[in-house]
Amino acid sequence: EPEPQCLPLEGAAMDAFLETTDSFLFDCDGVLWRGNRAIDGAPEAVNALRRRGKRVYFVTNNSRRTRDMYEQKLRRLGFDAGREQVFGSAFLAAQYLRQEASLPAAGKVFVIGDAAVCEELDEAGISYVRPVPEPVFGDIEQWSSLPLEPDVCAVLVAFDQHFSYIKLTKACSYLADPECLFLATNRDNAEMVAPGRVIPVTGSLLAAVETGAARQAIVLGKPSPFILRCIASVSPEGPLELQGTAIVGDRLDTDIYFGQTCGLRSVLSLSGVSSLDEAFENRRAGRLNMVPQYYVQGVADFLQSDC
Ligand code: PLP
Ligand code: CA
Repeated sequence: EPEPQCLPLEGAAMDAFLETTDSFLFDCDGVLWRGNRAIDGAPEAVNALRRRGKRVYFVTNNSRRTRDMYEQKLRRLGFDAGREQVFGSAFLAAQYLRQEASLPAAGKVFVIGDAAVCEELDEAGISYVRPVPEPVFGDIEQWSSLPLEPDVCAVLVAFDQHFSYIKLTKACSYLADPECLFLATNRDNAEMVAPGRVIPVTGSLLAAVETGAARQAIVLGKPSPFILRCIASVSPEGPLELQGTAIVGDRLDTDIYFGQTCGLRSVLSLSGVSSLDEAFENRRAGRLNMVPQYYVQGVADFLQSDC
């Protein structure tokens, strides 16, 4: 494997890249949109790739929406997209439970997560303990009698606005059984939403559960290779041809790491979280799984050519 060079994708290099890449996995937040607004030129560029016959998938670590909800959002922002092209981390976790986890017949999943996670589990036919905002349970001396559900054989950690000490305690108690499966949608740590304003996301909650349980979760969102198995098994077009597939993302530790460890082409879009300086610093330090092969200023750069 040649070392990733972090080269600008422009001019003749872009033409050759577009000629030889037949499938694109697009990260969403920071690449296609920021919050509720499309990034300039992104819908036009993605739609043009589809018109040119490229396979396009949308791969997001945000567990707060179902496939249907992402389809609606993509369409509202101007992307030609169908639900079957969307691989969100809530869907990925539900598909992992369905396809690869082999839970016992009566087994249930203890969910730290919100309604979208529950909907994807329902659609995949997985039983779970419906998450409820937990009241404060007396003082800590009483916590050894905290009521637990029978038949819990897996814990799934996703984004949960109602995360609480009680949920943490229950999750760690279920995980005390080494047979209990430990899953998470993603490990993204936080979002910088404005100067001096940070919103911790799922990775922060997961760190609490992992520390309390003294165990590590299996993560199903980026950078997990399960994404490629899932696309192969559920998409009508079948498996991707890896050398002709590119991941376009804004995070070196999830998107680019995923591409580099799975043998895909990797493109850092400088429209989001990670900077070119960080990519070059990774290269200097030999952290090559977090160095992209290419970078673009934004997804609109894919339009510049004759497509
Ligand atoms: N998790 C949460 C809760 C988020 O709000 C976001 C971005 O909005 C993400 C993860 C990262 O999503 P993506 O993989 O699309 O960048
Ligand atoms: Ca992103």
